[in-house]
Amino acid sequence: MASKQEKVHCLLVSYPTQGHINPMFQFCKRLESHHKVKVTFVTTRYFWKQAAITEPNYISDSIALETISDGYDEGASPELRSTKTYPQRFLQVGSLTLSNLLKKLLNNNLPVDCVVYDSFLPWVLDVAKNFGLPAAAFLTQPCFVNTIYFHLHQGILKLPINTKESSKILLPGLPELEPSDLPSFLYLQYGMYSMFWDLLVDPFNNIGKADWVLSNTVYELEPEVVDWMKKMWPVKTIGPTVPSMFLDKRIQDDQDYGISMFKPNNDLCMNWLHHKPKASVVYVSFGSLSNLNEDQIEEIALGLIQIPNYFLWVVRESEQSKLPKNIQEQVSDKGLIVTWCPQLKVLSHEAVGCFVTHCGWNSTLEALSLGVPMIGIPHWSDQTTNLKYIVDVWKVGLRALMDEKGIVRREMLRHCIKEVMESEKGKEMKKSATKWMNLVKGSMDEGGSSDKNTAEFITAILSK
Ligand code: UDP
Repeated sequence: MASKQEKVHCLLVSYPTQGHINPMFQFCKRLESHHKVKVTFVTTRYFWKQAAITEPNYISDSIALETISDGYDEGASPELRSTKTYPQRFLQVGSLTLSNLLKKLLNNNLPVDCVVYDSFLPWVLDVAKNFGLPAAAFLTQPCFVNTIYFHLHQGILKLPINTKESSKILLPGLPELEPSDLPSFLYLQYGMYSMFWDLLVDPFNNIGKADWVLSNTVYELEPEVVDWMKKMWPVKTIGPTVPSMFLDKRIQDDQDYGISMFKPNNDLCMNWLHHKPKASVVYVSFGSLSNLNEDQIEEIALGLIQIPNYFLWVVRESEQSKLPKNIQEQVSDKGLIVTWCPQLKVLSHEAVGCFVTHCGWNSTLEALSLGVPMIGIPHWSDQTTNLKYIVDVWKVGLRALMDEKGIVRREMLRHCIKEVMESEKGKEMKKSATKWMNLVKGSMDEGGSSDKNTAEFITAILSK
């Protein structure tokens, strides 16, 4: 236990994918910036073999790094990761290596006072409690998605979803949902990913034992559902976990997430954008994990070639072979295709007029933070539900409809881009996006909802 004068030592344990590392590492920076917290950031050994540190000052000066093992120090294939084997081996080997790490830190005179863990790793809470430590669950998905998984856990929502009996799903704090608005694992891809229950539903087995539940969301984005969740657990909304220089600007050197599994083409992207007129570019990216089929990639390519606008498209290295063979010649100087980009810098550039996105929660929060209207082509997981909110609740985007084969065709993509970039409806979306941007940024300003919650969390861990 730390005395009031000492720093409290917080250990944060992250799930090893880009979309989970980014929010938790950002939260490390926020905690550290309060000067009363010493932070150690932990993820797997294999993650560090792949990832590069893009903000070295943070790591060496303020935040210590440690690793644990998921049982696959030489890597687990994407196929293996989608089975039950991966979370179960992570639980076994992770519990052991985390316990060893806590003992090592204690022996080195760096005892841990508090643990924050990604909710995908609920066993970390059990390890923390074995050491008598207070612990906070960290939800990387919005509360409206976690509420759906909680109802599944409670057996109130039953699988498979029966679309014939009742087509509407009514849950506390949420708008009326169609089955297709539910996370894809419950509906579209039911049964395809056996790890989903372990990662997304099992965390509710022990969450009641957590001392706090931190959520990477903004109260104002989903107040009804946050209020509902608060009746069960000590929930604190602390998002968006976006580098400070894109929000409140109170942490001067915080301009980048800081850790990346992919090498961004920074100069190429930014120089290209600098020469484009205001709101003339369509930015297209499907995040760090999406694995689109060749048909879908071809339709996107042909759709983008036919629009009158400029476009910047991220096609990760592993997806490049799916591009149509002669794509580069057809793109000419109208488009730029890169393997990774500095997404926040791109979204905040005045040349960008809209974002064609898979609706990953980080990408959604980033677009909301920067006031960029979206066109949603969700791939899996919570993205389908995030899109429901983008279109119907916040009214900051459009749904690109799929055909009966599950593909968004080039005509549909062109139509949506024209709507957002040129129509009156598009102007309304931009207005809405600006309104939400102000609310989201306000939450991180001094005294805003997320700023207050973070400060309260720090006060609470200091007094534990
Ligand atoms: N991202 C990036 N450059 C890119 C594409 C994505 O920096 O070219 C970042 C993006 O800013 C976001 C993260 O990768 O923080 C993706 O997270 P998200 O939750 O949107 O999707 P996931 O990758 O988990 O599906």
